[in-house]
This record gives sequence, C-alpha cells and structure tokens, in this order.
Amino acid sequence: MSNVKSPKPKVKLVQLHDLKFRPMISAAKIKRRIREIGSALSQDFEGKKPVFIPILNGAFMFAADLVREFRGDCELAFVQLKSYAGTGSTGEVRVVLDIERAKIEGRHLILVEDILDSGRTLHHFLQHLAAQNPASISTVVLLRKPAAVQFPIEVRQLGFDIENKFVVGYGLDYDDLGRNLPSIFVLSE
Ligand code: 5GP
Ligand code: MG
Repeated sequence: MSNVKSPKPKVKLVQLHDLKFRPMISAAKIKRRIREIGSALSQDFEGKKPVFIPILNGAFMFAADLVREFRGDCELAFVQLKSYAGTGSTGEVRVVLDIERAKIEGRHLILVEDILDSGRTLHHFLQHLAAQNPASISTVVLLRKPAAVQFPIEVRQLGFDIENKFVVGYGLDYDDLGRNLPSIFVLSE
C-alpha cells in the first residue's frame, strides 16, 4: 500500500487564438459512430440515390467521412449558409451558395450538418428546400446541444448529444482555426 497519489493523467490542451480547449470526443469514437450512421442510411436509402447536402464550412469533414460509409449510389451538393444573429433570437439565414433546382426536385435529400445549436440555421434552410418539392428531406447531425435548441428539428441520425458548451475540431472552428483537428475539443474553463 502506498500513500503516494498517482499523478493526474495529463490532458493535452489545444490553444486557438486566446482560448484553450480540452479533448471531448476522440477520432476513434467519431469514426465508430459514423460507421453506424452510414450503415443505417445505406439501408434506409437503398436504391433511392439520395443527394447528400453538406452545409459548409463546418460539415465538410463529417460529410466526407459519412459518404464513405454509404453503400450504394448517392450524389453530393454543397450549400453555404450565413446566419445573422441580429439583436435577439430571430436572426435571418442567408443562402450564400445554393444548389441547382434539378438536384432537389423529386430527390431524396440528406442534409448534413456539423452541430445543432439553437436550430435556427436548419429551420430556415429546411423551409427553403421544402419549397422546391423534394421527394423527402432527412437531417443528419453530428453534434446536438439539447439545452440550446429553440427551433425543434427532427433529426434522422445523430452523432452525439453534448453539453451546452463551445466546441471545435472535426470541421468546427473558433474564428477560422481548429477545423483541421481530427477530433472534437471543448472550451476549457
Ligand atoms: P444554430 O443555427 O443551430 O444556432 O447554429 C448552428 C451553427 O452555429 C453551426 O452550424 C455552427 O456553425 C455554429 N455553432 C453552434 N454551436 C457551435 C459550437 O459549439 N462550436 C462551433 N465552432 N460552432 C458552433
Ligand atoms: Mg455550420
């Protein structure tokens, strides 16, 4: 028996600009979950040739890994949205990069988003898509903050529910940095 305390395992913090972040979800865990999601989507959309729609910039890495786990024919169409927080919770969402109508009308759409926070971005964009008569719209989200949701969104496949804290990595940025990190980090207080 020994009274010597074992040293605390060292947590590797990442510094981006002025802030420090600590590890939250490992690359291996993300990979395992995406494999499950890809498998479920492959079954659900068998023979339907869905159009995956990653929302740039944040969803680029998630989408790249997700489509590699999809078995069968599928297409890709990218969109970029800009949200204006405004003064309160009624921020507008502008479509910066849009998809050609032919890729939407009559097609099975799978929206791919990095993180569901208030839900405002997806809420607006779903209306924009629905107006163009797709065959169906499904939403796949890697991360969701249940405590922050103001616009309830029906999520077909979810990676992980997380606490209401700022996260970076795996496509997500803090002031443009951190998107290249292969795993998810959370702001360290
Ligand atoms: P929402 O419209 O759901 O409030 O916000 C969605 C968008 O806000 C996400 O696509 C993402 O760009 C950004 N966002 C929300 N929470 C976080 C976060 O914790 N970290 C980062 N990097 N971006 C976030
Ligand atoms: Mg985003």
